[in-house]
Amino acid sequence: MALAYDGAIQHLIDGFARLPGIGPKGAQRIAFYLLSASDEEAQDLADAIREVKEKVRFCEICGNVCETSPCPVCSDPRRDHSIICVVEEPKDVMSIERTREFHGVYHVLGGAINPMANVGPGDLAIPKLLDRLKTDEVKEIILALDPNIEGEATVTYLSRLLSPLDLKVTRLASGLPVGSDLEYADEITLGRALEGRQEA
Ligand code: ZN
Repeated sequence: MALAYDGAIQHLIDGFARLPGIGPKGAQRIAFYLLSASDEEAQDLADAIREVKEKVRFCEICGNVCETSPCPVCSDPRRDHSIICVVEEPKDVMSIERTREFHGVYHVLGGAINPMANVGPGDLAIPKLLDRLKTDEVKEIILALDPNIEGEATVTYLSRLLSPLDLKVTRLASGLPVGSDLEYADEITLGRALEGRQEA
């Protein structure tokens, strides 16, 4: 058996294999699935990929993904702009929105401090966060980072950085599964962690 397919099919397999969470076998399975799928289905997926690259951008204020910047949350006057919930990734915004417990605005850091992966505070959207605090409007910062070592390091760093400022800094209550990602917490657990947040 040949180790690689010819041309287009191998190109597609290699493309899928580079995606997070898909190994070489999964990549092969998806490629062959698409080969036998209808033209419409394959075209629809190709269009979705093109569209996401053309239309989706990052909000100039909070860093969340959006099609118009500022994003719908930042530009919504009904949201409480005095509370900023700091998260690692855009997907965390979605997790917190699903709890329906939070009516403030967000700030997406773009990751967490991780010395093993050479990610330091300078690689995160921290200066942008500090810029947002220059107005008197912000009263509380909720540090909603992943309940793992990197999230913990980031909470420690940010709470020290923010402590001289005249605002309340809180963090999610414990109770989230330790060592995991915010996105894996169910809405009820995450909602409770948000509601029971404590001073950082
Ligand atoms: Zn925004």
